[in-house]
Amino acid sequence: MLLEKFREETRSWLEENCPESIRTPMPANEMPGGGTRIKYRNPETKIWMDRCAARGFTAPIWPTEYGGAGLSAEENQVLRQEMSRINARPALVGMGLSMIGPALLEYGTDEQKAEHLPSIADGSIWWCQGYSEPNSGSDLASLQSRAVVDGDEYVINGQKVWTSGADNADWIFCLVRTDTSAPKHNGITFVLFTMDQPGVTVKPIKLISGLSPFCETFFEDARASRKNVIGQVNDGWTVAKRLLQYERTMIGGGSGGGQKSLSVAQVAKQYIGINAGRLADPSLRNDVISHAMDDRAFGLTVNRNVEESQSTKAPSYVSSMFKLYGTEQNKKRYELMLTAMGSQMLGWEGEGFEVDELTQTRAWLRTKANSIEGGTSEVQLNIIAKRVLGLPD
Ligand SMILES: Cc1cc2nc3c(=O)[nH]c(=O)nc-3n(C[C@H](O)[C@H](O)[C@H](O)COP(=O)(O)OP(=O)(O)OC[C@H]3O[C@@H](n4cnc5c(N)ncnc54)[C@H](O)[C@@H]3O)c2cc1C
Repeated sequence: MLLEKFREETRSWLEENCPESIRTPMPANEMPGGGTRIKYRNPETKIWMDRCAARGFTAPIWPTEYGGAGLSAEENQVLRQEMSRINARPALVGMGLSMIGPALLEYGTDEQKAEHLPSIADGSIWWCQGYSEPNSGSDLASLQSRAVVDGDEYVINGQKVWTSGADNADWIFCLVRTDTSAPKHNGITFVLFTMDQPGVTVKPIKLISGLSPFCETFFEDARASRKNVIGQVNDGWTVAKRLLQYERTMIGGGSGGGQKSLSVAQVAKQYIGINAGRLADPSLRNDVISHAMDDRAFGLTVNRNVEESQSTKAPSYVSSMFKLYGTEQNKKRYELMLTAMGSQMLGWEGEGFEVDELTQTRAWLRTKANSIEGGTSEVQLNIIAKRVLGLPD
């Protein structure tokens, strides 16, 4: 009964507060990020974010004192259903909400949570991830960036790479080596610090698309307050691994919710057409149906996982399965859209292409990175083999 009341209230709140333009498929260039440097292509993105933040709906299950809505798992499920009913886009995405936020809830002190979580939940601070280094990607624990104590601070030297959004980030969560003599997993510390300081230099990496979604990040005597160490000094690997599970669940869509940018069936109908009520190309029709069935089965597995993990409230090594399957499935989605749209999805610029088509080309190329970022598919297979199936090394 209480849940039904919550559903009614939520439904009418969404009706009143979700702008019309936010109830449409989300183009890749309207992803709702936050931070002090962001510019919104669609001003209603920001309006929607602010309204949801005021209600705690950007981080629905976080406690209210940290900017969440304190919803139970059941209420959160209702919220997701009601948002999906009106095809509402997520109000806020990013590494703050999906990665460092959950890690802070689990490992942060009360003081750390109070300092960082509210500005994540309202989108005012944007975070980036300082994990990978030029020679430490899959073998992340071999990282070499050093941090040395100086009074109340750490002094940090080294280099990170592929730091997504570092050029727009306000803060970084970073892995640094604090003990060079310990075995590699045991000398790492997880620390937070500001990007806007003299010791941090960011060089965007320009891609063939002309965009620079990620950067090289250099630390030359950068400073981090010792109160911003998360977890124990030299035991940052524990926090780092958990955060990767949150990241992999997010990339693979394993946390449920979220709005798919465009469905393959929609695109195929538009470009191939309908004949006698069915998609006109029989071969593509089979592929689209088969993909949709896999999507549905994956969605059910995701829901089951969300329900089953409610007691633990944290992902596990199973996140590697979601990362592996979800990203491969997303790559297939775009390959199918390419088959349907043909050369209309291969345009780069100029006449003859709609803006949405040019966006699709870039979105298709972007999916190629899905099975690399957050740990490659091969690395996920290794984890599944060892940690989920218990196979020998
Ligand atoms: C779009 C994108 C965004 C990213 N954003 C960030 C970010 O914000 N912050 C950050 O820190 N990093 C980021 N990364 C980096 C990402 O985490 C690494 O690219 C990834 O972990 C792989 O590391 P690597 O590139 O060094 O490849 P390598 O580790 O050099 O791997 C090369 C190849 O070898 C294979 N391989 C390596 N080891 C094994 C093994 N043991 N078994 C089987 N195969 C293996 C890999 O699967 C891969 O095919 C991003 C990457 C991408 C593509």
